[in-house]
Amino acid sequence: MPRIGVFICHCGTNIASVVDVAKVVDTVQKVPGVTIAQDLKYSCSALGQAAIKDAIREHRLDTVVVAACSPRMHEPTFMKCIESAGLNPYQFEMANIREQCSWVHADAAQATEKAIALVKVAIAKAKNLVPLSITKMPVTKHALVVGGGISGIQAALDISKAGYKVTLVEKSPSIGGRMAQLEKTFPTLDCSA
Ligand code: SF4
Repeated sequence: MPRIGVFICHCGTNIASVVDVAKVVDTVQKVPGVTIAQDLKYSCSALGQAAIKDAIREHRLDTVVVAACSPRMHEPTFMKCIESAGLNPYQFEMANIREQCSWVHADAAQATEKAIALVKVAIAKAKNLVPLSITKMPVTKHALVVGGGISGIQAALDISKAGYKVTLVEKSPSIGGRMAQLEKTFPTLDCSA
């Protein structure tokens, strides 16, 4: 069974003025696998991150869930935070209870239920996380363009002009696609082939 720590952010009043944070904490700490659930005023602040690191050490957590803002905003912050406390940074999951909850709902009771559901989903996902490591692979700077119609030809030319090798693949015996089947094209009446 994983040892999951769940941290529910107030974001000042951004979340806490709509979502009943204490109720969310109370509910999710009973979810199997959750070792500790606690609220934080500003999770991304130095104090908030220190509290998460302390909890990781004190409760021997192996996975962390933060319910706060959009992962686009602070997922890297928290991944670095838990990594500095000795965890694999991919043992982390975030629930967005600000942009997708408190900022878009006025009914506090319903918003709180939604926040609980969002956090439970994040916990369920967190239980299936596995530690990952970053590997670097050499890549061949060579593009494959599939389809030798006009757009494929143009894409191949553009990539080639940018300095990369290109292989253009076409299933029919000649390139040009539909365009090559037209006799003349508007407005110049040029022979399209
Ligand atoms: S983690 Fe996100 S939701 Fe929490 S205080 Fe920082 S910006 Fe606000």
